Amino acid sequence: MKHVVIVGGGTGGTIAANVLARKTSKDKVKITLIDKSGKHYYQPAFLYTALGEIKSESSVVRDESQLISKRVRLIIDEAVKIDPADRRVDLAKGGSLNYDYLIIATGARIVPEEVPGYEASYNFYDYQSALKLRRALESFKGGVIAIGVGGIPYKCPPAPGEFSCLLDYYFNRRGIRDKVEIHFLYPLPRPFPERSVAGVMMELMERKNIHFHPMFNIEYIDPKKKIVYSLEGEELKFDLLVMVPPHKGAKVVENSDIKAPGGWITVDKYTLNLPDYDDAYAIGDATDLPISKAGVVAHYEGKVVAERIAAEVAGKEPTSRYDGTVRCFCDAGYRKAITIKFNYETPPKKPKPSFIWYIMKMLVNKTYWSLVLKGWV
Ligand SMILES: Cc1cc2nc3c(=O)[nH]c(=O)nc-3n(C[C@H](O)[C@H](O)[C@H](O)COP(=O)(O)OP(=O)(O)OC[C@H]3O[C@@H](n4cnc5c(N)ncnc54)[C@H](O)[C@@H]3O)c2cc1C
Repeated sequence: MKHVVIVGGGTGGTIAANVLARKTSKDKVKITLIDKSGKHYYQPAFLYTALGEIKSESSVVRDESQLISKRVRLIIDEAVKIDPADRRVDLAKGGSLNYDYLIIATGARIVPEEVPGYEASYNFYDYQSALKLRRALESFKGGVIAIGVGGIPYKCPPAPGEFSCLLDYYFNRRGIRDKVEIHFLYPLPRPFPERSVAGVMMELMERKNIHFHPMFNIEYIDPKKKIVYSLEGEELKFDLLVMVPPHKGAKVVENSDIKAPGGWITVDKYTLNLPDYDDAYAIGDATDLPISKAGVVAHYEGKVVAERIAAEVAGKEPTSRYDGTVRCFCDAGYRKAITIKFNYETPPKKPKPSFIWYIMKMLVNKTYWSLVLKGWV
């Protein structure tokens, strides 16, 4: 009997567990999933929570136990140390687990406190923060709103640009758009890393009268004066600041001998193996691969590692490889969205806002629990 241990029951870990359960026999493979909270939030919904379109917590969260195959043993506990040399994971409540195969899917951790003055900012990177932002937006009657980024890498690269466009739509619907100045502060010279997408984002922002500030890496915030300062020496006075918080890897990665700078994990870009360990993998936001930290990446990677382990257990050569595919739908407001698709070899084509992509985005949101997490798509 082989024992597969998965650390982290978010998007990647859940998909890996479900695909493994489907592709292996219960007599040959035991699957254990460790998650520190046992709750699974659909993070893209936080954006719509902040904008008041999603009203109840129950539509964005599920118990992890409802999402995984009955074959998977769920342990609700925090992994505190991973030792790939000894094939061991230590748990916070005591005890440890030994494995034959390991999948690390611990995601990213937000650390707003790393920006001095962060308490004057809002964000939509966890449920409670999104609720707080919703209340601030609801009572906002006019003035300057700045949307900025506290550090790279961060989850879902289009999210702050998307949020800026959706704010334009939100205030238009409230009939006070003419009283609100929207400023988008971005750490790069263009509003998205990929050139072809950046051009479209630029056009969208101009059309929506969103003021774009390139090369604005937030250094600190003065909460009393309500001014945000950049490393590059710029400053902006705001009435409401939305800051994508800096991100780091999980604490357990920082405490183990597997980390790259920032608490991320170095893996082979195709096989997702940790260097020197062909029985240990990392997927999703936890890795230091130079691609988007996105659910879709965790999704594809979760399937790849599950297929590789299933092949090995069956005594076959694993052939499944991750080709760097990223595909996302980015809401541009007014029921239009753009789609961005690329992989390691092929850069994205110039996207065009369309109602079809908006419907696709809503479809992904709707099928996340039933199809995506099961690894059926
Ligand atoms: C506002 C917002 C909008 C987004 N929009 C999109 C989008 O439109 N499209 C898209 O593709 N992606 C989007 N994303 C990104 C996407 O949600 C993440 O990239 C994705 O969830 C990453 O999956 P993961 O499995 O790597 O990590 P996660 O889903 O974050 O899961 C990590 C899990 O690990 C657990 N964990 C961490 N440490 C430990 C430990 N020590 N022991 C046990 N368990 C641990 C956590 O409890 C968590 O359950 C968005 C994210 C945000 C915040």
